[in-house]
Amino acid sequence: MVSGVQMHYYKVCKRKLWLFSKGIAMEEEHDRVVEGKILHERAYPRLDEREILVDHTFKLDALDGEYIREIKISSKMADADRFQMLYYLYELKKRGIIKKGLISYTKERKTEEVVLTENDEKEIEQAIKEIYRVLQLPSPPPLKKLTYCPKCAYYEFCYALEGDE
Ligand code: SF4
Repeated sequence: MVSGVQMHYYKVCKRKLWLFSKGIAMEEEHDRVVEGKILHERAYPRLDEREILVDHTFKLDALDGEYIREIKISSKMADADRFQMLYYLYELKKRGIIKKGLISYTKERKTEEVVLTENDEKEIEQAIKEIYRVLQLPSPPPLKKLTYCPKCAYYEFCYALEGDE
């Protein structure tokens, strides 16, 4: 099953999706995961179920009435954050649980509501197929220069290789 992080990376960069999924982990990426964990523990100290593990594959930060919640540091990756949330809503719906999503951005102090539509469901199904296709590739998809690259944990890895070409 596709994880929430994989769905997020799919939206950001398919090369990143491939590298991450093949276990090529960068220390910086690990630090960010730990940072996110500390962040949500601070954000939801009183919620009993801070983390909900769905089918041992993806973790939801918190279940809060009709909403599931995610907390992010900033809204720089808002599109990918929204898509990841839609994926969670989609997976929950498949299990008969209908929810809406809330994404809180601590830096901007704002919260976005995410509602899953039929069109979103089709888009998610397409994305799942595409993720499996990318993961079957024998080597990572080629480097595409993105404005996000300098902030990516794989930046040095990708651009060092490019320099050798
Ligand atoms: S550095 Fe750029 S191309 Fe390389 S994995 Fe990251 S986002 Fe993708």
